[in-house]
Amino acid sequence: MTLKITILGCGNSSGVPAVGNYWGNCDPNEPKNRRYKCCLAVQSDETTIIIDTGADFRHQMNDFNITSLDAVFYTHQHSDHCHGIDDLRSFFFRNNRTPIPCFGHEQALEEITERFKYLFEGGNHDYFYPKMIEANAFDVSGFGKTQSFRDISYIPYEMNHGTCTSVGFRFGDLSYSVDMKTLDQNALNVIKGSKIWIVDGAAYDNSDNDVHADLKTLYEYNEFVQAKQVFVTCLSSQMDYHILKLELPDGFYPAYDGMAFNI
Ligand SMILES: [Zn+2]
Repeated sequence: MTLKITILGCGNSSGVPAVGNYWGNCDPNEPKNRRYKCCLAVQSDETTIIIDTGADFRHQMNDFNITSLDAVFYTHQHSDHCHGIDDLRSFFFRNNRTPIPCFGHEQALEEITERFKYLFEGGNHDYFYPKMIEANAFDVSGFGKTQSFRDISYIPYEMNHGTCTSVGFRFGDLSYSVDMKTLDQNALNVIKGSKIWIVDGAAYDNSDNDVHADLKTLYEYNEFVQAKQVFVTCLSSQMDYHILKLELPDGFYPAYDGMAFNI
């Protein structure tokens, strides 16, 4: 079975340009510098999983013409990864008012459900604000093990994101590690042998960043992981596509929105 995996957003929490049309070091004339907040689509012939629903979610789904959605996987609870959640409402109504299954780390779901209680528990109107989303916490014992949602298999793994634990995913030969500061041996063992690795390098050349990995850390990890192609994502306005492409060593590439893989 072939999966189509599409980067719907490779930007950091601000996106590029940031609000106020701020491009930083990025060339505004290069279309690959226009970045939505981090988001990934994983699609089989029958099933669509979206990883994260940040504030750009509606535009991402529309720009890349993704017309259906079966589940959302949350990497973590930071606002740039979940504050577009209200647009799941439209899918709920079109899916015959069936609550949309969302999956995530237990702590992440606790915070997200607290913030958006009206979506997970229902609001003050039975017809317009019923329960629209079903929260499913990943079983701790399932990290590092193959699981499946319908016909799509995946291996979730925990990552250190400084202020919280985040969850990465391996789908066949592709691994997705967003957002993270460091990876422990358990995570690296899951990712090892992936042909394609899409990974957070938002800290760029700053090893003191408390929540994101810098590029040097990624180079060290890939000595073990041995991915043939590493795509750096969570890119900030300080990271121009062409400059970064020249700076990265063989096998490393800047991600861009719309980049797609068949695995
Ligand atoms: Zn984050």
